[in-house]
Amino acid sequence: MELDDKIKIMGRFKYEDKIFSGYIKDNHAIVERELYIDSYPLDCVSLLVPVVPSKIICVGLNYVDHARELGMPIPDEPILFLKPPSSVIGSGDSIRIPHQSTRVDYEAELAVVISKRCKDVAASDADDVIMGYTCFNDITARDLQEKDGQWTRAKSFDTFSAVGPWIRSGIDPSDLGIVCRVNGEVRQDSSTKNLIFDIPYLIEFISSVMTLEEGDIISTGTPPGVGQLHCGDVVEVDIEKIGVLKNPVV
Ligand code: MG
Repeated sequence: MELDDKIKIMGRFKYEDKIFSGYIKDNHAIVERELYIDSYPLDCVSLLVPVVPSKIICVGLNYVDHARELGMPIPDEPILFLKPPSSVIGSGDSIRIPHQSTRVDYEAELAVVISKRCKDVAASDADDVIMGYTCFNDITARDLQEKDGQWTRAKSFDTFSAVGPWIRSGIDPSDLGIVCRVNGEVRQDSSTKNLIFDIPYLIEFISSVMTLEEGDIISTGTPPGVGQLHCGDVVEVDIEKIGVLKNPVV
């Protein structure tokens, strides 16, 4: 992958029992220390979830084509909900189907990672607070979402927020292909150009409500084609210019 100084792929890695953050270049994990640079071949390190957020803010119903699919009107403001940090897993980690649910769905989403503490950010300044972009799978217990009438339980089980495999900076997120595959079969296939509320607007809207912290994740909603996961499935969220987030289901 071609990289220059402005385009970095940032990740978290584990080597032996040490965990560190750095970036990926030429198939190596690069870690800048105070006085020198460490470099590890990628196949010698484990890739961990790329960020540990203080909160995850999700947007419901944010794709024009998904709203049409559901026969729902286009919302006039973003619909927000939170997922707990305890639900986060990285690429390769298992999604666990909880015994309380008989219908667990995937939702492929583009996520934004915040670079610094901020509040009341104007849409025109949004780039100043964006670390980069990653793939997100907003796993949802659909039956519990319908039963409860609000979404906290349905969205909050451990392993229900898959994030990764890394954070990509230096890309334009306004027209990226977004695909979800289950066992290699395409289930969702859209583009971020179909977002109703774009990323600068979402950052302005959300930061007018709550302070955002470094590492917080904003997930921008899912395109049409959501569907059920079963034990033994492998689900992939593949976003153009970012990478593939891949998780088995157990
Ligand atoms: Mg979602």
